[in-house]
Amino acid sequence: MKEEIIFNLKQVYQRIEDACKLSGRNVSDVKLLLATKTVPAQNIQIAIEAGEILIGENKMQELRDKDSVLKDLNIERHFIGHLQTNKVKDVLKYVTCIQSLDRISLAEELNKQLQKAERTIDVFIQVNTSFEESKFGLPPTEVIPFIKKIKEYKTLKIKGLMSIGLLDVEKEKMRPSLHLLRKIRDEIYTAEIEGITNLQLSMGMSQDLELAIAEGSNLVRVGTSIFGNRFLGKEIWNENIAE
Ligand SMILES: *Cc1c(COP(=O)(O)O)cnc(C)c1O
Repeated sequence: MKEEIIFNLKQVYQRIEDACKLSGRNVSDVKLLLATKTVPAQNIQIAIEAGEILIGENKMQELRDKDSVLKDLNIERHFIGHLQTNKVKDVLKYVTCIQSLDRISLAEELNKQLQKAERTIDVFIQVNTSFEESKFGLPPTEVIPFIKKIKEYKTLKIKGLMSIGLLDVEKEKMRPSLHLLRKIRDEIYTAEIEGITNLQLSMGMSQDLELAIAEGSNLVRVGTSIFGNRFLGKEIWNENIAE
């Protein structure tokens, strides 16, 4: 397993580098986050020992279960799955960033718990750029009003936008949803909302990371290409089902 993970990591970095070259981007502008749902802590640890520092989990339960192995390592954990309001308090114990902020009620609960704990957190606003009903995320037209509202919550540091692109065997079908996230960011800049600058784009996964980088991604979230397929009786694919 160790050789495999290290080999896969090299491959993924090669893909990132090639994609950056193709679109004339700087490799240092694209970070890699390991999407580790269903991956045992020991395998995550192998990647961390190989130099990885960014981990993304989808479920509170998994954050908790893997915490004894991961808590003292020099890493940053992000929450990238659908977050139920009643899990907020527990999730906050483990992570420094919520990438799946997609509704006011969640922003309110985060703010409430963060105020209690006297701390802040980084957030990405999740946008449903593929218009699939099964996907979480704000509709694109609601992003600007949403930002204007949540920017009143001083506990939430808005770092960027996140989306799960439309996955398809045909590249041309995947590209528009990635392009759209970038377009939404441009519209936010045009709206000149005070204090909102430097938004990162978190998009691109095993299947579409090259396209995402071509469309300006700053953070690709990769699971399968590093840790292999996820099987758990049935395959768990894209965590769009609530816990
Ligand atoms: C699982 C997951 C990923 C990674 O997907 P892969 O296809 O395994 O690379 C990225 N982002 C989110 C939100 C995920 O749930």
